[in-house]
Amino acid sequence: MHEHDDAAPSCTSCHRALHPIEATRWACAGCQQQAAQQLADLPTLHRQLADVLTPGRGAHVVGSRGAYGPRPPADLDVMDLTDPRVGVIATLVSCVRDWVETSREGDAGGTLTPPEWPAGPDARLAALCRWLRWHLDWACGMHPGVGDSLRDIQQVHQHAHSRATGERGERRVTVACPCGGLLRVGASTPSATCGTCGTRYGHDDVLRLPLAPRAMAAAAA
Ligand SMILES: [Zn+2]
Ligand SMILES: [Zn+2]
Repeated sequence: MHEHDDAAPSCTSCHRALHPIEATRWACAGCQQQAAQQLADLPTLHRQLADVLTPGRGAHVVGSRGAYGPRPPADLDVMDLTDPRVGVIATLVSCVRDWVETSREGDAGGTLTPPEWPAGPDARLAALCRWLRWHLDWACGMHPGVGDSLRDIQQVHQHAHSRATGERGERRVTVACPCGGLLRVGASTPSATCGTCGTRYGHDDVLRLPLAPRAMAAAAA
């Protein structure tokens, strides 16, 4: 059984107070759900990034800004992100290593076995995402450092999503859930989960939420 040091345990990812029934866990249900969804989305986003990189394959991206010809193929930003050594895959590999190592220490509730590493970036990424989703519940329950992993997953997902869809410059706003929780959303946000109460909003519903008061929005940005 793990215990938080302080009297009021909070999620190591979003830092909100944990519900009493999850007080011995390290991440809240909302953060866990969000990470599961991001891991489910990543293989598709990664393939779309490859399309952006390969002239002729990315018909859905080319021309989205008007008929001024295709995007430059050598987009360094995208290259970095899909480079297996520094991009999405490297980030997820380091999460896997971290979780496996942690599971071998003390009372972490069993030893995790690392996944097979299939050849090819698409297959490898799919295997990584599947493995992390399988062990996400363990990590949120047993891994004191899971907050770092969840932030890494969120960051690569956000970056991959904005690069794959060409929406880097999209204006994002902070909206308020009826429970008081805040969500950062943009016109292309497919869905969002409130980190405070765990309510999941579809695309239309999340855009109908009221804008957060300016001071709160500034604190959340
Ligand atoms: Zn959380
Ligand atoms: Zn809420």
